Amino acid sequence: ATMPPLLAAIATAGRRGVLVKSAQVMEDLATMDAVALDKTGTLTEGRPELASVHGLGLDGDTLLALAAAAEHPSEHPLARAVVAAARARGLALADAVDFAAEPGRGVRAVVEGRSVRVGSPAPVTDPRVRRLVADAEDAGHTAVVVHVDDRPQGVLALTDALRPGARATVAALAARTVDPPLLLTGDNSRTAARVAAAVGIDDRRAELLPADKVAAIEDRRAAGRRVMVVGDGINDAPALATAHVGVAMGHAGADLTLQAADVVVVRDELATLPALVDLARRARRVVV
Ligand code: ADP
Ligand code: MG
Repeated sequence: ATMPPLLAAIATAGRRGVLVKSAQVMEDLATMDAVALDKTGTLTEGRPELASVHGLGLDGDTLLALAAAAEHPSEHPLARAVVAAARARGLALADAVDFAAEPGRGVRAVVEGRSVRVGSPAPVTDPRVRRLVADAEDAGHTAVVVHVDDRPQGVLALTDALRPGARATVAALAARTVDPPLLLTGDNSRTAARVAAAVGIDDRRAELLPADKVAAIEDRRAAGRRVMVVGDGINDAPALATAHVGVAMGHAGADLTLQAADVVVVRDELATLPALVDLARRARRVVV
């Protein structure tokens, strides 16, 4: 007997390195008419590197060593970059206790008896820190602020390369949707603007917490759109769950993200998505 078209399409997607979790998801892919993409790890490689360290009260190596110790338990790409940079400099990482991560905000832990926080510059008002953050962001970097015992002690600037072909994929998705693509990010608005321009997206929202991403998707759904959401982080899990079709990039490490997704791009190639939509649409035409 021949395989039903939706199942055949799932098998084809599988051979291309894309896991589609059910026949219903394949149908939903066929009817999607809007797309929202996360920035970090979705439009970009998600392998940021430390570009520079700016200590205020502490010297750079001490700052980096404390930040890396606090970030060590975290799976976040920014955390991995901080730890890798500290190791590359030969710095010893102290043990962290009382570690806690707040998705979309950052981490905190106690390191050698000091409370260390590493995270978003958004709530920080100290003018010296704001200046360092603005300089980093003007250079297209993501700035994170390091607090030690509740005082801002410096800024780490990180860079993350665009995925090759991101611009072409965005254009191909735009050709398959009613609304122009939307970029959603927890990162700062300057970096968001740079990445959006580089990939050809006009509609962008920055400095979003996970719940804000959900609200942005719900807005579109309330307007009647069937939104495909593409993300990679634990911070994207609620948005993926809210989407008409939630797509997780393959490098997504967190179980929560993989569970919330309807589609997992196992091969981690963004460029597979437009072809996946076409495949779903062809399969559906055969069914109806
Ligand atoms: P995105 O939506 O771009 O994937 P996230 O929601 O994961 O980004 O993070 C948003 C912001 O929160 C980051 O740009 C950073 O400022 C801060 N942040 C989140 N997790 C961490 C972490 N582990 N270390 C440092 N900063 C973090
Ligand atoms: Mg991300």
